[in-house]
Amino acid sequence: MTGTFYEVFENGREEVTLSSQKKTTFCASYLEVRMFNVGSGEAILLTLPGRKSAWVIDCGCHHNEALGEALAGYLNDEGIKLKGIVLSHPHFDHGGAIETLVQKAPLASTVTYCRSRDEYFWPPKPWIKTLNTELNAMNAALKKIVVEQNGMERVDLGKGVQARMYSGKRVSGGYTAIFMHVRYKAARLLFTGDVSCGYEEKLLKDSLGYEFRADVLKVTHHGSSSGTSNKLVCAVDPGIAIASTGHDAGHRLERGPLKRLGGRPGDREVLETRVDGDIILQTDGSSSKGRVLYYVDKEDPGRFAAAAEAKTVALDSINRASGGPAGCGKDC
Ligand SMILES: [Zn+2]
Repeated sequence: MTGTFYEVFENGREEVTLSSQKKTTFCASYLEVRMFNVGSGEAILLTLPGRKSAWVIDCGCHHNEALGEALAGYLNDEGIKLKGIVLSHPHFDHGGAIETLVQKAPLASTVTYCRSRDEYFWPPKPWIKTLNTELNAMNAALKKIVVEQNGMERVDLGKGVQARMYSGKRVSGGYTAIFMHVRYKAARLLFTGDVSCGYEEKLLKDSLGYEFRADVLKVTHHGSSSGTSNKLVCAVDPGIAIASTGHDAGHRLERGPLKRLGGRPGDREVLETRVDGDIILQTDGSSSKGRVLYYVDKEDPGRFAAAAEAKTVALDSINRASGGPAGCGKDC
């Protein structure tokens, strides 16, 4: 293990050293998140404790066939079966590789497919039609879960891991996406898609009474200034933030979200694929005094970087774009 163990709490994290006995217990029961460096896209693998089955949370980039084949190869090599797919929203950079993935990956006996009832899905774009055909033809039973607008679905991911999938309503023509709040013992992780601050704020308001607090936040819209509002940061209060970033406009981590995430007390470096390569987080869900144990590692340039034609760059070589709507910075 070359990474670092942290205790993660509201708004921060602290490095810890584990006894070899605790390490053994941890390794026997961890949930793993791998955010792959795929350039201008997003592909996250959530491997359940025991490493026999996994869910993908979005899977797409500019080289979808190569990415789908590479991820299927990875699952084969690791002996992991694909058990579920979450498409946060129907954009090619988030779902384009799923078609190849379901053709080539080892599948669980039933594969669950979650999506929202987003008007982008209708009329379906050609690649979504093909994806539907592949899903219906795959060599496994298919269970579909459609999250209604302003709805919430509780989904048992397996092996003691649960998720709540939220879908909000469109705000002034912007994007919508499923927010997926994952729970494993004391651990909480929030995955978002590509949305704007207005959508985030409306979803939080309409979902009053539900808890969005999480140790880990997947930053919205690749780190664009138009997302990851102050209100979202306050509601989640993450100790770790991760972003899937590329080099082109629309897939960059910009100054606004960095400030909103890092400009508050606590050590909250934002990990991003463009700099760190694959981001690997593991947690056994154990906690002590409100602090949850995580292991954080990176793989540079990333397992599928070649397939996705993605690279990593030095942090100090990035000239961050600024801007973004003033509304994102509204007080908590
Ligand atoms: Zn995107």
